[in-house]
Amino acid sequence: MPKTKPLKIDGSTGEGGGQIIRTALSLSMLTGIPVEIINIRAGRAKPGLMRQHLVCLQASQQISDATVSGAYLGSTAFSFSPHAIKSGDYSFDIGSAGSTSLVLQTLLPALLFANTDVSSKSTVTFKGGTHNPMAPTTDFLQQAFIPALAKLDMQVDIELQQAGFAPIGGGVIQATITPFMRRADSKPLQLTKRGDLIGIELVASTLNLEYDICKRELASARTALIESCIDEALIKSQGNKLHGIGEGNTCYALVTHKTTHKADSPDNYEQLHQEAFTLLGEKRSSAENVGSRLAGLVKRYLFQTDALVDEYLTDQLLLPLALSGGGEFTARVISGHTKTQAWLIEQFLPVEIKFNAIDDDKILVQVVC
Ligand code: ATP
Repeated sequence: MPKTKPLKIDGSTGEGGGQIIRTALSLSMLTGIPVEIINIRAGRAKPGLMRQHLVCLQASQQISDATVSGAYLGSTAFSFSPHAIKSGDYSFDIGSAGSTSLVLQTLLPALLFANTDVSSKSTVTFKGGTHNPMAPTTDFLQQAFIPALAKLDMQVDIELQQAGFAPIGGGVIQATITPFMRRADSKPLQLTKRGDLIGIELVASTLNLEYDICKRELASARTALIESCIDEALIKSQGNKLHGIGEGNTCYALVTHKTTHKADSPDNYEQLHQEAFTLLGEKRSSAENVGSRLAGLVKRYLFQTDALVDEYLTDQLLLPLALSGGGEFTARVISGHTKTQAWLIEQFLPVEIKFNAIDDDKILVQVVC
């Protein structure tokens, strides 16, 4: 069989960050198209492959038996030529506090499509950071990303076995991935109308730090939400003690609305949509301040827009949507990440991704397959 010509990707395009590498690896494995990436993370202060990106490349190589060159720390170019994707049990150690979520998101599409036999699930263990700045935390994956995938009939379970924060890391998550099978009667996702607010769950957690921090964050977030006239009965709070080495503090707000998710289908029953807003505690910031910033993220989502999907889930949903028949959703904002992600997906797949502003704070995102 003639070898497919490699797709050349300029890593400085758009956002010019690590996401280009991860998405290119996912799409290369899925399509079998080899890639050559240059100018890796040229948009960042320290360009080239950092640990997390290198592990993404090595892990992708392992699950797809790929031929690779340029896989070393600091590398600003690599080539990647995949073979068949193998489902199975894997373990990857980032060896730093690098984000386990981002490595998982790189492998996830490939492992979802690795085998159509649903009994051949993959179990993948990742060691590293579970709660990183500028990346989805394990909580975000469990509370927002995974439930959104479930609406596309993609079944993934994630267990937090140990929490890991910078600088030490040492966190462990385990993902169980069921091969994806699209139902014959499956309709494109439609996640456009925000219905009633069902509830806001505030969760604050500490790792080897005083539990009082959680109480203060929760009290401050709750007060700020009530002051904005949110019905007190809708707000629930919970504190947690995490297990692991090192120290850390994180909190999130889970905001649940009613919605319908497949308007033209006989399944047109009401569904729920969950958005998660996450923050990490910082030495320079009081627990009260973290709590009120968390409430601020919730208020912006509740009061500035009636779009359903917030910034981060928007870029993370594009690829799963493009792989599962497309669909549409309303987004609060279209970030540079989202635009770059759309551009890259269109390089590999016969899909069109459209952004149409409905008003200042609501954009209709359409993935047309
Ligand atoms: P770089 O160091 O090059 O910036 P990176 O590998 O850390 O790259 P990005 O390219 O910046 O990663 O991509 C970050 C990803 O993390 C995006 O998909 C974005 O949606 C997600 N993300 C960032 N912050 C959050 C957050 N608070 N909650 C959920 N997801 C987040």
